[in-house]
This record gives sequence, C-alpha cells and structure tokens, in this order.
Amino acid sequence: MKVFGVPSTSLPMKRPVYMDHHATTPVDPRVVEAMAPYFTEIFGNPASRNHVFGWRAEEAVETARAQVAELIGARTREIVFTSGATESINTALKGAAAARRTRGNHIITLQTEHRAVLDSLNRLEEGDFRVSYLPVAPGGLVELERLERTISDETILISVLLANNEIGVIQPVGEIGRIARRHGIVLHVDAAQAVGKIPVSVERDEIDLLSLTAHKFYGPKGVGALYVRRKDPRIDVRALIDGGGHERGFRSGTLNVPGIVGLGKACEIAGSGMGGESRRLAGLRDRLLDGLRSRLDDLSVNGDLDARLPHNLNVSFSAVDGESLLMRLDDIAVSSGSACTTATARPSHVLRALGVSRSLSQSSLRFGLGRWNTEEEIDYVVDKVAIVVTRLRELSTATP
Ligand SMILES: *Cc1c(COP(=O)(O)O)cnc(C)c1O
Repeated sequence: MKVFGVPSTSLPMKRPVYMDHHATTPVDPRVVEAMAPYFTEIFGNPASRNHVFGWRAEEAVETARAQVAELIGARTREIVFTSGATESINTALKGAAAARRTRGNHIITLQTEHRAVLDSLNRLEEGDFRVSYLPVAPGGLVELERLERTISDETILISVLLANNEIGVIQPVGEIGRIARRHGIVLHVDAAQAVGKIPVSVERDEIDLLSLTAHKFYGPKGVGALYVRRKDPRIDVRALIDGGGHERGFRSGTLNVPGIVGLGKACEIAGSGMGGESRRLAGLRDRLLDGLRSRLDDLSVNGDLDARLPHNLNVSFSAVDGESLLMRLDDIAVSSGSACTTATARPSHVLRALGVSRSLSQSSLRFGLGRWNTEEEIDYVVDKVAIVVTRLRELSTATP
C-alpha cells in the first residue's frame, strides 16, 4: 500500500517505533523539497520592495498564506504568520484581552487546555483580568450549559482547545462559537492538534481567532499562523511584537520564508489526503485498542472515544508502576500521563480533570499515530505493551 505516495509496508520496520505524533511529526519529504530553494536561490526578504529577490520571496509567502487560508476556510488576508502555536496563542489571548479591556475583564477557558493557553491566562490574571477554568464532563467534553451560565456582562473572551493534545477529545467548537457570537464574546480556538487532521472551518464554526503550528502536521518546527477574523465581526488584536509593522502590524520581524513555504505545502498536502488518511489512522487506532484489550484486562480508555481524533489513544493500566512501564518500553516512543519536570513527575492536569486517579494517570500511555505508521508497527507495539504490562503486574503481586 502507498500512503501519501510513500510505500509504507515495503520497508523493514524501523525501531524505535515512533508513536508520539502529538508531540511533533517528521517533516514530509515533499515539504522539505518545497522549502529547499528558499534557503539558497530565492533568499530575498519579502519586505524588499525594490528588486526581484524581494518580489519572489513575497510571492512565495502569499502563496503559502492562501494555502493556510484554504485549509481552515478563511480569507487570505486573515492569516498572520508566527513562530508557532505558542506565539499565536499568546498574541491571540493577550492581544485580544488588551484590545477589549474597556468592555470587560473576564475570560473563560477549560481546565484541560494546553499549557500555552493556561500560562498565558495565568499571566493575564497577574494584571486585572479574571479567568474561569471550567471543569469538563468525565469524557473530557465541555458542558455547554455550564459554559453559558459562566458568561457575565464582563466576559470578553472564550478560549477552547479544538482537539486535546493528550486525550484527542474534540470539543463542539461550532456550538461554542454560536454561544460566543450570541453574547458578543470573542472565541479563540487552539487548533494545533486539529488542523491538517480533521476538517476545520472558521466560517462554519464562527471562530474569531485560531492558532495553528506546522510541526504538528508534517511541516517544519518554529513556524505557525494566527487566524484573525476581519469581517462579521472584525476582531482587534494588539500586537505583542513591535518593529517594522510586518504582517499588517500584527507581528513584526522579517518573515521565515522557507518555514512559511513549508507550512503552506504541509497545508496543501494535508487538505488533499485528509479523508483517506483519517480512515486509515482510525483503523490502525482501533487495531491497537482491540489488540490491547484482547491481551490485557483492566485497561481504561481516557476521554470520549467518539468525539476524538482518529489517531489518538490514551489508556491507563491498573496495578502497574508508570516509570517501570516507560523504562521497559524502550523501543517505542510514546508519552506517559505525567508531565516530567526537572525533579518531579506530576500527574497530567488533563487526566486529573477527567477524574482519573493519581496512580492510574501515572500508568497511562498516550499513543499518537501518524502518516507513516504501519499495521506491522501496531502489532509490534500491542505485543510489547502486553508483555511488559503483564510482567509488571506479576512483579507487583509477587512482592509482599
Ligand atoms: C504543540 C501544541 C502547542 C504549541 O505549539 P508550538 O508550535 O510547539 O509552540 C499549543 N497547543 C497545542 C494543543 C499543541 O499541541
């Protein structure tokens, strides 16, 4: 079988097996190829208006802008290039909060958001903004009634994660968008895990601001975009980075032309193959879950299985020490349910918001499947995880 023009099963299986595509993805060779000339031959600064070097670079940037806009159903002029989703999120939240401060100071988000959102909002709370961090239902989904009840006259901004980076749960952003619109509140959506994976439309879902990043969908690291609605209604965002007034003043600094070209190409590729790729990944994910279930008892899936990215699986194994589990899965690249800071392993705030116990979240694994994973790899991972979990359970019952 050929996947995205690359033969997937004819190659021998490489190890370690990479199943951590929520952390980052390899760059598609077609993206690398598209970027290459912009390091050398077409190296101009798109802000240079006086010669062909600048014009050609600008042309490439505008092509990429159209490719990004096309993938999320936006207008070309609504796309602002940034260094990635963290910068887009900071600009969206701090910039929109500052621009709307005279109307109110209240912001609503979910407890299960990415740290880029939570930390940006924590920063705003150090000023005179107030933030409500809403709990979620046990499956990880927003409770729309609770959201609507939390809205006050002071509410200026809502921020939600379209698809969760740990549990893959997809929020009903269209319904949230309609609520926000009805109350005249700006909606920001962190779509870093969703763009390029599932259909996203800022028009259909009435999204005002949207953050995305290339390296989560087979583009290069260090480049992303912020969508800023310009019409019905026009959204004001105060810039974080001042300088030459690039990107219509939203984000100064010389543009990362090769990176932007790569982002554009990654959008084009993702848009053209999405349906088939989704089905293939969902098939692999189901094979992984069915395989694990057939070999192991006492396995729980974290997060709703239906409203979920096709390539995500997050499971907890009872009676297993999380650290030993990861150590023994030494040729499989996956993530655990604890965020390892320098000294301590804290249970994931996302799993905690779902009500998963401390010990279960520490023995949980996040699988993120991707464009080049194969059935053979899935079968290898099922076998390895089943053997390791069984062995660790035997050890834990054997010790007095
Ligand atoms: C990866 C990610 C980010 C941060 O993106 P960067 O481009 O790495 O800064 C933000 N939000 C979510 C949901 C992510 O998965």
